[in-house]
Amino acid sequence: MKKLSIGMRLTLWYLAIFAVAQLVFGAGMWFLLRHHLYALVNDSLESQVEDLQNFLEAQKKNATTAKMREEVGETYLLEHSGDYLELHAEDGALIYRSSFLEKHPVTLAAPGQADQAISRNLSLGGRPFRFRAQKLEANAHVYTAITGVPTDDVVETLSLFRTYLLMFAPLLFLAAAGGGYWLSQRALAPVDALVGTAREISGANLNSRLPKLETGDELQRLSDTLNEMLDRIETAFLRITQFTADASHELRTPVSLIRTEAELALRRSRGEAEYIESLRHILLEAERTTSLIEQLLALARTDSGRETLHMQPVNLARMLNNVGDGWRHVATIRNLQFSMSLPAQDAFVLGDEAALRRLADILLDNAFKYTPSPGSVHLSFDQKGEKAILLVQDSGVGITEDDQPKVFERFYRVDKARSREQAGAGLGLAIAQWIVGQHRGSISVESRPGRGATFRVEMPVIAAPVAAPQPA
Ligand code: ADP
Repeated sequence: MKKLSIGMRLTLWYLAIFAVAQLVFGAGMWFLLRHHLYALVNDSLESQVEDLQNFLEAQKKNATTAKMREEVGETYLLEHSGDYLELHAEDGALIYRSSFLEKHPVTLAAPGQADQAISRNLSLGGRPFRFRAQKLEANAHVYTAITGVPTDDVVETLSLFRTYLLMFAPLLFLAAAGGGYWLSQRALAPVDALVGTAREISGANLNSRLPKLETGDELQRLSDTLNEMLDRIETAFLRITQFTADASHELRTPVSLIRTEAELALRRSRGEAEYIESLRHILLEAERTTSLIEQLLALARTDSGRETLHMQPVNLARMLNNVGDGWRHVATIRNLQFSMSLPAQDAFVLGDEAALRRLADILLDNAFKYTPSPGSVHLSFDQKGEKAILLVQDSGVGITEDDQPKVFERFYRVDKARSREQAGAGLGLAIAQWIVGQHRGSISVESRPGRGATFRVEMPVIAAPVAAPQPA
């Protein structure tokens, strides 16, 4: 079964609560009114009984029943109505009974039995009454009196009140239903607008945003949060499309160079030396392409979160020594001075050895690439407190202050023409920054153009792992 909309459910809940409240209020008011009206009737009965009591007390002590009968007829009824009065002596003998009660006898209690006053609503001759039977003591005699008051007004008022209630309650209910539905639709209209716009947003128009609400309530929070989410998605989306475009562009250059080289070689027949030269160029470009593809794959893996590092204690001092040794022959080929200052003692970081080697290789590769001969490259490592500090310094071309923060961006190259010549696609430092980040470290550069550059990596050190005891 299809679920009701939130607006409809809110309205139904509201109506159910409204109906219960209306019922409780109506019934409460009716009972309250009834209670007050009958309290007035009771007051009138009580004053009648009081008058009778005064009358009885004023009679002679030894008055007989017959005398009493005479006195009621002559004195009492002159001042009081007595239309609904009945009076009995102690022995049950009737002293007085109005003509109305002759026709419509009322029995509330046997004479002398009404120890407590007994009150009843009765209908006599088609009219509503409230009667009371009560024992009265006067001059050492006990009488039983029955007095009554017609209650047509009370009954009529109550029935009128009930009629009004039953007449207006459904009207109020209908008005509340209409109002409630209108209100809920009005309150939820912005949600429909949000849904409508959200449905239209796709990869093609990711820059669209949901309407900005100024309601200061949950709906504004919802639209703001969704818009912030769209900002993040758009940034990620643009990053990916930019990456794809840059990657395709970078790949196109070496591939077209390989193609041109091969086409040129095949255009006419050549000597062996020329073919070897062409093949060497092709091989060089193929190697560059392979390295570029590896870099692209590495970045794609980091983006997708699939690049996982295997963290374990790595002796950074020893590892850097190994890496540095590997670069000595490059220094010789390029006619550059290469020196290292590494501490003799071990220093450990929690890291992935292969990734840390790659980091050192990227920094050293750049230092050698961007330092023309004669020049120098220096690799140093130091431990300061809880930090391992790795420095790669060169005396090369350096980087301007404006370019320094940008060199860590993907595909950013300061001098595009020179970099291309030296096989850089502007990805090395982006990969280096990712590796450092994974090791909870930081990377920065200090440089003055023409005076060389210093790349500085900081990482937290850990205590040396305890070697497993050797079996005896
Ligand atoms: P590339 O593969 O082009 O070297 P990187 O991301 O490693 O890419 O470096 C980005 C850019 O930063 C380089 O193109 C270069 O212009 C500049 N750069 C990096 N290292 C150095 C350095 N040691 N000296 C001068 N410029 C450098």
